[in-house]
Amino acid sequence: MEKSKYAPVINTENHDTISMLVLDKNGNLSGGCTTSGAAWKMHGRVGDSPIIGAGLFLDNEVGAAAATGLGEAVIRTAGSAMVVELMRQGKSPYDACKEIVERIFNKHKNHRDMPYLQVGFIALNNKGEHGAYSLRAGFNFAIHDEKDGNRMEDAKFKMTWDD
Ligand code: ASP
Repeated sequence: MEKSKYAPVINTENHDTISMLVLDKNGNLSGGCTTSGAAWKMHGRVGDSPIIGAGLFLDNEVGAAAATGLGEAVIRTAGSAMVVELMRQGKSPYDACKEIVERIFNKHKNHRDMPYLQVGFIALNNKGEHGAYSLRAGFNFAIHDEKDGNRMEDAKFKMTWDD
């Protein structure tokens, strides 16, 4: 805030966009997300959350996906839209989330912002199957369905914060 420095930092203490994906009893999907949970954003910064296709995307014929983490990285890959496209090609929600996290990792692995890079996706297809995957440990999400009620799940991840 004092320096107006543009250097978004995403770690376990300073972000957590809330997104929700819903499949109703008629087979219709809905999705929503907060306008970014990033703390101390620079004035004027637009994260991924308000951009359809980046922080959130949905196609009723396929499924829905949403993101958390470093918005710049999610925007550059059209992350949530790509997760939905991979589900359209037949991938499971989990495999689709994992592939886009891997893509983001590969694009950033030599970049200086890597120590602050976290991205995670949740996805739900129109059959009611869900999945999630994050770059770094610590991403969890809540599920509710008719069969098992409410529970929390920890997403699988590629690396810890010390890797
Ligand atoms: N995706 C958000 C942003 O970059 C940060 C977050 O995950 O809360 O603005």
